[in-house]
Amino acid sequence: MGRRFHALHPNGRGLAGEVERCADGSREEVRADTVVGGDGAASRVARAAGWAPLETVPLMQAIVPLPKDMAPDTVRVWFVPQDTPYFYWLIPESAERGALGVIGESGPETRRRLQRFLEKRRFDPIEFQGGRIPVYTSWVPVRRQVGQSSVYLVGDAAAQVKGSTVGGTVTGFRGALGVAEAAADRLASPGEVPPHATPPGGAWKKCSRRWTGRRSDSGAMPRRSSNVRMVKTHRNERQTRRVKCLCIGCCFSVLL
Ligand SMILES: Cc1cc2nc3c(=O)[nH]c(=O)nc-3n(C[C@H](O)[C@H](O)[C@H](O)COP(=O)(O)OP(=O)(O)OC[C@H]3O[C@@H](n4cnc5c(N)ncnc54)[C@H](O)[C@@H]3O)c2cc1C
Repeated sequence: MGRRFHALHPNGRGLAGEVERCADGSREEVRADTVVGGDGAASRVARAAGWAPLETVPLMQAIVPLPKDMAPDTVRVWFVPQDTPYFYWLIPESAERGALGVIGESGPETRRRLQRFLEKRRFDPIEFQGGRIPVYTSWVPVRRQVGQSSVYLVGDAAAQVKGSTVGGTVTGFRGALGVAEAAADRLASPGEVPPHATPPGGAWKKCSRRWTGRRSDSGAMPRRSSNVRMVKTHRNERQTRRVKCLCIGCCFSVLL
């Protein structure tokens, strides 16, 4: 949307978001009935709505040429407990190159360890990538009330990451599906607290099963046909109820 979110405040029966146009730095006010923050681990939406900051860890990877003895349809992992409580991985991204990475605990130390690992195993890095991602410490409620309106979080903003190996691509989409359903439920029955704002268990799993066809939230990607059906349903909800929903950040939140 070409805008950076800055602040949020109640406005009558809805919400007003202060955003900056990236093109020229000018400020605008955007009004919405519901706000969804999909703006990552350092979510400004979360801070503006009163969620506490998340614990994060550094993730670093180097793009390297694949070793000659490695097939592009396999993945390698190395367990080096003195370097990381997780593991090093090498995941091919083509027949020629792969991403060799590690999750650490402190940024500079993680970079040094990765560098050492690359040198020891004679990998020649083409480029480095990195960022901080949340670790799962406990369930983060996905909804807060601001004024009379709802603010939801999805993806890294709500620490929707794997408990075992961090990373939130699949789990973030799961979270977006849950939030889409919770927001639609709330529009249908405005006075009720949506069940999806509660810890995983009943409603979260029910929702996962409904959209993925799986019995548990074991990390499987939702089936595509289910996603499409859900998006259509909620598009219809939005059109018929004329609700304005402001989504900040990632593609997860456009599901609404
Ligand atoms: C190097 C690296 C490798 C990874 N590999 C894996 C992997 O193999 N598997 C896996 O599951 N996960 C992996 N992850 C983690 C994964 O990338 C994240 O869990 C996932 O991207 C979270 O998606 P998100 O949309 O919630 O947040 P993000 O991807 O962080 O997206 C947030 C978006 O919000 C925007 N934004 C931020 N602030 C504002 C603002 N104020 N206003 C407007 N927009 C804003 C950002 O520009 C960005 O577009 C990796 C992460 C890194 C750093």
